[in-house]
Amino acid sequence: MNNAYDVAVVGAGIVGLGHAAAAHARGLRTVVVERSPRARGATVRGSGHVGTTLQVDAHRALAARTRELFLSYAPRARFWLARRGTLAVATADDELEVLRGAGTGRILSGREVTDLAPVAGAIGGALYRDDMQLNPREMAPAFAAWLAAEGVDFRWRTTALGADPGSLATSRGDIRADNIVFCVGVDLESLWPDLAARHGVRRRATDMMLATGVGLEFPVITGSTMLRHEVFRETPAHADLLSRFERERPDIIDLGVGQTYAEVSGLGVLIGAAHRDEDDAWPFQEEVAFDVLSREARRLFGQKRLDVRQRWRAVAAAVPGDTLRARAGDGIHVSAAGGDSAMSMGLALGETVLADLYGP
Ligand SMILES: Cc1cc2nc3c(=O)[nH]c(=O)nc-3n(C[C@H](O)[C@H](O)[C@H](O)COP(=O)(O)OP(=O)(O)OC[C@H]3O[C@@H](n4cnc5c(N)ncnc54)[C@H](O)[C@@H]3O)c2cc1C
Repeated sequence: MNNAYDVAVVGAGIVGLGHAAAAHARGLRTVVVERSPRARGATVRGSGHVGTTLQVDAHRALAARTRELFLSYAPRARFWLARRGTLAVATADDELEVLRGAGTGRILSGREVTDLAPVAGAIGGALYRDDMQLNPREMAPAFAAWLAAEGVDFRWRTTALGADPGSLATSRGDIRADNIVFCVGVDLESLWPDLAARHGVRRRATDMMLATGVGLEFPVITGSTMLRHEVFRETPAHADLLSRFERERPDIIDLGVGQTYAEVSGLGVLIGAAHRDEDDAWPFQEEVAFDVLSREARRLFGQKRLDVRQRWRAVAAAVPGDTLRARAGDGIHVSAAGGDSAMSMGLALGETVLADLYGP
């Protein structure tokens, strides 16, 4: 194996893969260094929802470009990518008002919503046609395998220890590279603590679960998700929505629940999520969060029981402004996408960083 590269990328999550793909597309000699035997971080633990419509301002452009890139890579890397859109389900007037206020997507009647998905209590909704769904557990390894077949070197089970200009120190020796980009997600805090602190990077623990499929053709979001996304938070009706949840559902607010449901063929329905911003991301999951997620899912799908098959916790970086590009030294860079939509921006972020380094 070669030991001198144009670009070394640390981390094989979606952000690292996005940088590696962008470097490789420019014909640069590229290596990816990943400490695990395969991607194991936030990327494979997420919902795999690639949402364009839920982004605002500059993020919408990043998400739109990421969408194009996923569409171009999926057939080549052979991973599943469903282009059905997202269904937002409103079960209360204030939720429908928020969807109307967001001014994006087609507003649906309650009847139209129940024709599209097996949900109970819908009074209306919205359909976001541009959004897509992938299986994150399948996509990351398939993407890495395809990049490897294309000539990108992957050093698995190799931990990056630090970098000096032109040299990346790893647990398996030094690698020479003109540009080194750290895409290490939450580990930014341990590798580059001062930089992480300067940019306000925090740890966010998220609990999710997987249940037997309920027959969803569209990823579904609900009122509690509307509390979290900026495109909804900017609407006039958002204050009413928030005060109703504070009054009637303090558990949802306290547990940071944003209900999302994404059914993945052959896997089941990915149910998210309870979010906690905390400094040490305590690994022990509170059953109360899963009780709420199960109860809300049963209520939405009008089911007496939910066949839960897996539960897990992901610890991801929470990045103010949701994306971070920073210089850590000569030829040493740090890139991160945080928040609920990082999967939807990671590929385009890689392209942007490579354009900064090597020109448009
Ligand atoms: C539960 C959950 C659900 C989500 N759902 C969605 C969604 O539906 N849609 C969406 O757009 N976004 C979603 N997100 C956000 C998004 O999936 C993640 O934030 C994003 O995948 C982060 O990618 P990443 O590459 O930065 O991090 P990671 O996937 O965590 O990758 C970082 C990699 O770096 C490696 N690494 C770290 N340190 C070192 C080192 N020193 N040496 C070598 N390797 C190292 C790690 O092993 C890891 O593989 C979700 C996030 C979570 C937590």
